[in-house]
Amino acid sequence: MAPPPVTCSSSAVAAPRSNRAPPVGAVPGRGCGKASRAAGRAGAGSMGSSGERRGVETEGDLAALAELDEATLLGALRDRFLRQQIYTDVGDILVAVNPFQPLQLYGREVSEQYRCHEKGTLPPHIFAVADRAYQAMLGRRGARPQSQCIVISGESGAGKTESTKLLLQHIMNLCKGNSQLEQQILQVNPLLEAFGNAQTVMNDNSSRFGKYIQLRFQNNTVRGAKLSEYLLEKSRVVQQDTGERNFHIFYYMFAGLSSEQKEMYGLLDPLLYRYISKWFGTEDVAHRWKQKYQEVCNALDMVGFQEQEQVDMQAILAGVLSLGNVTFEPQDSDGSLKVSEGSQGWLKAAAGQFGVQEDELLNCLVCTMSVTRGEQIQRFHTQQQAEDARDSIAKVAYGRVFGWIVCKINELLAENVDPEVELREIGILDIFGFENFAVNRFEQLCINLANEQLQHFFNHHIFQMEQDAYRVEELPWETITFTNNEPVLNLLLAKPLGLMSLLDEQSAFPQATDKTFVDKLNSSFKGNPHFQPSRGCVLGFSIIHYAGKVQYTAGGFLEKNRDTLPANIRGLFINSVTPLLSLLFAASISRTGTLMPHKKTKIVPGADKFNSTRKQSAGTQFRHSLMVLMERMYSANPHFVRCIKPNSQKQPSVVDSQMLLQQLRYNGLLETIRIRRNGFSWRPLFEEFAERYGILLVKPDVPLTKGSCLEILQSTDLTGWLCGKSRLFFKYWHQDQLAKYVEQLERAAVVI
Ligand code: ADP
Ligand code: MG
Repeated sequence: MAPPPVTCSSSAVAAPRSNRAPPVGAVPGRGCGKASRAAGRAGAGSMGSSGERRGVETEGDLAALAELDEATLLGALRDRFLRQQIYTDVGDILVAVNPFQPLQLYGREVSEQYRCHEKGTLPPHIFAVADRAYQAMLGRRGARPQSQCIVISGESGAGKTESTKLLLQHIMNLCKGNSQLEQQILQVNPLLEAFGNAQTVMNDNSSRFGKYIQLRFQNNTVRGAKLSEYLLEKSRVVQQDTGERNFHIFYYMFAGLSSEQKEMYGLLDPLLYRYISKWFGTEDVAHRWKQKYQEVCNALDMVGFQEQEQVDMQAILAGVLSLGNVTFEPQDSDGSLKVSEGSQGWLKAAAGQFGVQEDELLNCLVCTMSVTRGEQIQRFHTQQQAEDARDSIAKVAYGRVFGWIVCKINELLAENVDPEVELREIGILDIFGFENFAVNRFEQLCINLANEQLQHFFNHHIFQMEQDAYRVEELPWETITFTNNEPVLNLLLAKPLGLMSLLDEQSAFPQATDKTFVDKLNSSFKGNPHFQPSRGCVLGFSIIHYAGKVQYTAGGFLEKNRDTLPANIRGLFINSVTPLLSLLFAASISRTGTLMPHKKTKIVPGADKFNSTRKQSAGTQFRHSLMVLMERMYSANPHFVRCIKPNSQKQPSVVDSQMLLQQLRYNGLLETIRIRRNGFSWRPLFEEFAERYGILLVKPDVPLTKGSCLEILQSTDLTGWLCGKSRLFFKYWHQDQLAKYVEQLERAAVVI
């Protein structure tokens, strides 16, 4: 069925607040008042494509496009982008194309203009999304107060993290109590970025972890914040690809610490350290890093980290770097290993920086101690094993520091309110996009699993819920096809035979190898259209994801999933004289993001082979944290921001159409536009509608019935809605129109 033609009359609608000027010169596409917007839509069914395109360019809403094919969509986005109109609405979804240059779009005055603005009176903007989420959270304009979540997606370098910062900035500006807490929340980002971001070939400031920030409000005041982090890329600590760097903090600290401080921490010339590739920046760059270091220190102070904690953290980072320079060679006598001639000094330095005994640290590197039937057994490492142990210690130490920072932030920013008080949330999700590299490992599988879940969440809201509603209400509806990714999710998550479960099962077998794991997959998923066994000699498999086929290399899957601590390391660090290091290994970081002391276990130094059977695998932990995240998101009202990267050279004003098109496909944007245009995204029950808009009838005791609803609607000029068995069906802009009637009435009441 073709949707009924929409003819929105603007005559009876209150005039837009035209006295509120659009951002002066700052925001592109200015002057799109409600009336012109409505007129543009009215033409949607009848005007030719050229007239339509013009309408879209001023409105910035692609759901109003008359012709809907990839070429038109691409053309519209590209034209807008080249005019520096980086934001475009697709119905209520915001598309943001990374400008790769600073734009004057985010000043205080612009933020003020978007405060409580009416949709359609100002050009699309990231602040508009923040504003809508905030107003909706408060239940303004007739909506039910409800928690909100903003999902930002896109590939690396598309602008997710910048968008997150802008959303936070605007939301903090909206609550504007100028409280200490607001300032602290804004300081969280520089802190996380220093420890969790790095320069990559895709992005000079690439987040190497995913995050979900929950802002908690009591009415319109922010009372607390909570952070969840996902999958920090710890391998970067010990190794980076060509043209990439380690985490920013390592460079910042060399640039920012005074010579005395460096001496105190035992830090030498940065060019000596292997983990930072014996590479440093030019003087200019170092100058910027120095400022960044100062920012980090300020942020640490501001958020509330104690001085001693900061000193300890610094010492641990120095220890990680020194440890990286330790190398090994065989002993002449018995074939066991010793530290190479030249690197004994580094071992000593690392032991000092970690606050542990040098010989105990050495023991952890060159051998494994275990206790079998009360007897201590010592097994010597090969050179490779010793190097692996060294790198694992560095990774785990850094990973725990990062986890601790997040926990600490959560402790310091937790709300301090009476449990009776009802809090509402705005969550912002900034998480890595879909990845498909030349070599894809366990980490890519986890990342792509998260993206499958998010895609499912998106589909659920945009497509499925809407279509189900039509079916239940027995309204005719031409089914819009969308790529349902449930079969892939099943392949990955089903119990007990999904890929992740099979991985866990294999990880629990001491004899299993990556090869037996792949064999198991090949036999279990034979004939599954989303699985392909690997051809050729590489041990691996391919998954057909919603965004395309990804070939995974199976090497290392079991070990990464087991995620066992290097033997004896917990015992070593728990006894460190550095209080923070001892705490990091005595406590575990709970899923709720707080530090939990371990049950008192007696630690026998050198003999605490980590018990991997009791510990959850990395895959299970990740799956669990995703599940918690999805639960939170399904219970909130979502807003979507789709970030798009216009070219891979990070250049301003350059559009690679092929690249753009591919992202539009991954994002399902075309389908989204179609459903938003044809669909009815707001579907209140008769009772809900009559209760909320009964005042428009200006009479007491309006019954909450279908009859009243029809009477209300007939008293307005709204057209194009449908009436089902138990609910009404509206286009996404009808709600704005009704809000104007209410406002008009309220204004009239005030005058009287
Ligand atoms: P992602 O988090 O998606 O990987 P980022 O948000 O880190 O990407 O953006 C990558 C880079 O692109 C930023 O460091 C910045 O230089 C640029 N950028 C992104 N969004 C904007 C914006 N709105 N205005 C100006 N530059 C931007
Ligand atoms: Mg990022």
